[in-house]
Amino acid sequence: MPVAPTYRQTMPTGLSTQRLAVLFVILVTLALLALVGWQSWTSRAQALREAGMDAANLAHSLAQHADDTFEEADASLSSVIERVETDGMGPGQISRLHAVLQSQQRFIGQLAGLFVYDEQGRWVVTSNETDPLNANNADREYFRYHMNNPDRGPHVGAAIQSRSTHEWVIPLSRRINHPDGSFAGVALATLRLSYFNEFYNGFDLDAKGVIVLALRDGTILTRRPFDANAVGASIAKARLFTDLLPVSPVGNEMARSMVDGIERMYAYRQAEEYPIVSMAATSKEAIFAEWEANLARSAGFVAIVLAAMALCALVLLRQIRHGLKTEAELRNAHAALHKLAMQDSLTGLANRRQLDAALPDEIGRARRGGKSLGLIMLDIDHFKRFNDLYGHPAGDECIKAVGQAVLGCCGRSGDLVVRYGGEELLVLLPECDEDGAQRMAEKILNAVRQLQLHHAGNDTGYVTISAGVHVMRTDDPALRAQSLIQAADQALYQAKSLGRNRLCLSRPNSPEHVRLA
Ligand code: GH3
Ligand code: MG
Ligand code: MG
Repeated sequence: MPVAPTYRQTMPTGLSTQRLAVLFVILVTLALLALVGWQSWTSRAQALREAGMDAANLAHSLAQHADDTFEEADASLSSVIERVETDGMGPGQISRLHAVLQSQQRFIGQLAGLFVYDEQGRWVVTSNETDPLNANNADREYFRYHMNNPDRGPHVGAAIQSRSTHEWVIPLSRRINHPDGSFAGVALATLRLSYFNEFYNGFDLDAKGVIVLALRDGTILTRRPFDANAVGASIAKARLFTDLLPVSPVGNEMARSMVDGIERMYAYRQAEEYPIVSMAATSKEAIFAEWEANLARSAGFVAIVLAAMALCALVLLRQIRHGLKTEAELRNAHAALHKLAMQDSLTGLANRRQLDAALPDEIGRARRGGKSLGLIMLDIDHFKRFNDLYGHPAGDECIKAVGQAVLGCCGRSGDLVVRYGGEELLVLLPECDEDGAQRMAEKILNAVRQLQLHHAGNDTGYVTISAGVHVMRTDDPALRAQSLIQAADQALYQAKSLGRNRLCLSRPNSPEHVRLA
């Protein structure tokens, strides 16, 4: 039987509290990061979506505007052609036509000029006050297009600088036919680029946003911000023209500009009536500026929260560690006190208190298990004389030596050696039957004899002890600790009265109950 009861180890619980605290901090950190990450990811996607939508709406308005602007000019062109084809190009008709062209040009703001050329490219009539002498436009792209193409539809060309006014214009032209269907010339309306530029400048764009008006073949007509070098440049190789437009007349794409290299969200829309494409774009920088600012604010906030949490966690961990240390110290102190309380101070053997605690348990265990329980009561012979002969301190040493000798005989872990009184010891032997207990008592008596401690007041000249052995019967229903001890004590008394230096079994009325060792 162990001297001190074992305590449930609390260290693992303490460790798991620490682990739990760390795990909690990690989980909260991850959750916070995941939340902020997810939120910023969705708000980024939303910013992109909104920018795409805004650009698409703008592109739609621009395409509509371009269609309307071209249509208005085209209507004048068609009426001019109708007149020329019906009335011919005689001098009378020409002067009337001149007046018509002039009034059209005055009323239609985007019109820079209206022109009619004959089949050789010579100027027949224009909306201008004076026509340049012998001017010929047969080299112009639109002229060659109509000459070689019987199609009667409108033709829009790349922006050019007018030969008459030197301003940037977009040529919108149609073919004039002779009554037999052969080529009779070209009617041309020029649209002011400045008209589009002024309209485009009215929109509220970000600093790096752009608006582009281009021909369907990718030639830039004009652009906001205006750049004369960009006019006429081709962006035909942009994905928008190679991949998107062939599939859909309207769409969105994040792309890098071929003109200035800036990445933007582009929305495009092809005009319905004319081969032109309107594009509106917001720079990526502007789209994400607010998002980035929000992200920085969130990151700052999270950093502060995490730092505060880490601080709290550190304090908490320190407190847990401190608590654990204090608990361990308390436990050790308690164990030491407990041991002291259960120990005899002179011999280090178990004391009466420990016996009082252990004996009822052992009795219960023996009864439940149907096992025997042996008790040996020991007492040093003529110890009063020993004290008288050698002094009390020597007597103490003697008791200690005898105690160690007894302890040395008890090999099993459940055996308990108790200092019962002054020089009386009691040995508790769980699961030990009468034979065993008797053998053990003999062994103990011998062990003390072997010490050969001089004792002039004893018969043998050395210290000897007497023993009373009692083994608990499990069939006795009224067993109590005290009666067991009494039985052993009575056997001891018997041994003393029979001459000491011997053991007696507590078998009353039996001639064999005394054994001389
Ligand atoms: P017996 O053989 O009948 O046992 O004779 P005895 O003299 O040993 O008688 P008893 O056991 O009754 O006497 C016990 C004596 O042991 C009394 C006391 O002087 C002595 N004694 C008790 N406790 C101590 C102790 O702690 N130290 C010392 N030195 N002596 C003690
Ligand atoms: Mg004695
Ligand atoms: Mg005694």
